[in-house]
Amino acid sequence: MTVIRVGEADIRRAEEMRIQVLTEAFIDKSMRRDHASFLASHMPDSVNGLITMIMQTWIIRVDGRVIVVDPCNGNGRARAGATAMFNNLNTDFLERFRATGTDPADVSYVFCTHLHCDHCGWNTQARDGHWVPTFPKARYLFVRKEYDRWDPNRIGHVAVDFNVGVFEDSVRPIVEAGLADLVPEWHQFSPSLQIEPAPGHTLGHAVLHLTSANKEAYFVGDVLHHPVEIARPEIDVAADDKEMSIATRKRLLERLADSGALCLPAHFAEPHGGYVRRAADGYRFEALA
Ligand SMILES: [Zn+2]
Repeated sequence: MTVIRVGEADIRRAEEMRIQVLTEAFIDKSMRRDHASFLASHMPDSVNGLITMIMQTWIIRVDGRVIVVDPCNGNGRARAGATAMFNNLNTDFLERFRATGTDPADVSYVFCTHLHCDHCGWNTQARDGHWVPTFPKARYLFVRKEYDRWDPNRIGHVAVDFNVGVFEDSVRPIVEAGLADLVPEWHQFSPSLQIEPAPGHTLGHAVLHLTSANKEAYFVGDVLHHPVEIARPEIDVAADDKEMSIATRKRLLERLADSGALCLPAHFAEPHGGYVRRAADGYRFEALA
């Protein structure tokens, strides 16, 4: 069990699954032709036109609390279209979660950077034909702006085919169980932990900022999907608002480089996180040792 330490915080990781996506999701063919050496140094994991993305949850122990960030896809969901690879999953995620030494009943807070299917699924689990909270004693922190963006009952709701059903099976049951806190996009909920806005990928996307004993980390969710976006922040995958997503990424990269904070995204392959350093032509990624 690898433990990452940031100040007095203890950070662990539970993996649900890994998927392979087309490199073209990030880089189009002409860019690949023109930037062969760039890709060799920035996407060394790109083999046969495929890169690996990890579905993983971060578990933080700090301030005497246990915080779960982005609880993956969950088992037994009906998913279709672009997220068909997550349809009716039956993984042993909860066993891996427990193998980190964490009992779901000991979790104090659950934070979803956003409400795409791969970031909130294990909010719930199926029991006797109902969706019940996986973390029964936790407060689930939903940024109100993000919650409103996905609430299908809101007037003007814009659905996307890859996220149909997620609110119903992974969000609403938490509200009905009385465990949801709808919070502002700037929200300090523990001495060391603050939610901060990072909109674009989704309209209410937020990040979690950890500060402990003068050390910092950011759990950046899908502001970054792959290290290539650190070197080329204008590369973007599907987003609610592409321009906003790129502006947010640039702002966060600057903050990460200036602060020396550890960057822990949702989907990076091994070693799953690292540091953003300034380079002559922008930024470069320094992977965790
Ligand atoms: Zn994601």
